[in-house]
This record gives sequence, structure tokens and C-alpha cells, in this order.
Amino acid sequence: MICPECESALDFDEDEVEEGDVIVCDECGTEYEIVATDPLELSKVEEDYEDEEELGEEEEE
Ligand SMILES: [Zn+2]
Repeated sequence: MICPECESALDFDEDEVEEGDVIVCDECGTEYEIVATDPLELSKVEEDYEDEEELGEEEEE
């Protein structure tokens, strides 16, 4: 499994995680919640919950 943020290998065993588990990327510190295991699916955990205003969904970088 590759971290979508920094493309480093995420260090966890796919056979040993369950839905709801949270793993952390060693490289960039991004947290991912396991939302499904078959197939494995991760959801990035956003920390800035306070910013719930919708500022437009098509932000350009
Ligand atoms: Zn990462």
C-alpha cells in the first residue's frame, strides 16, 4: 500500500487491519482510516474539522 500523499510505502500489514483502524504514514504523518478491507480502502483523516465552510470544491493549486 502506497501513501497517496507522499508515495512512500505505508508500513502496515493488510491482513492485520480492520475497518475503523487508523494508520499513520511514517513519512508525512498523514492519518488514514481503514474504511474497507476487501479491497483495502483508506480514507484520509482530516484534522482541521473546524474549517467546515465550503470554500468551493474546485480549488486550483
Ligand atoms: Zn505519506
